[in-house]
Amino acid sequence: MATLEIDCPVCAEVLELTGEDRAELRPGDVIVCDSCHAEMEVTRNGGGEDFELELLGILTVCPACGEEFDVTEDLLAASPTLEAGDGSAVSVVTCPHCRARIELEFEEEGEGSPPDLRS
Ligand SMILES: [Zn+2]
Ligand SMILES: [Zn+2]
Repeated sequence: MATLEIDCPVCAEVLELTGEDRAELRPGDVIVCDSCHAEMEVTRNGGGEDFELELLGILTVCPACGEEFDVTEDLLAASPTLEAGDGSAVSVVTCPHCRARIELEFEEEGEGSPPDLRS
């Protein structure tokens, strides 16, 4: 069976889903990126290239107040992104608990490292 390769929408790490993996996935199931632990909900799984995911969010611990919150695609879309010279992107999100501004750094080429929290 063909293996489907999906780019993680957060860290661009390639996630490989084998035919066996996909046979067990149903819309509504959640898969987790090995690299950045982003959670993605399967929205389509019809066979072949007919496969879609929706990003649910990354559970992040605020370095300022210690509370956990989800970084979602919507939150990232609404957050300013700074492009560093080395090609990495830094998103500035706001903690919903204490309103601290937190920089999330995503590597362009994920090498198995989680998002780097810098306060
Ligand atoms: Zn990822
Ligand atoms: Zn906080």
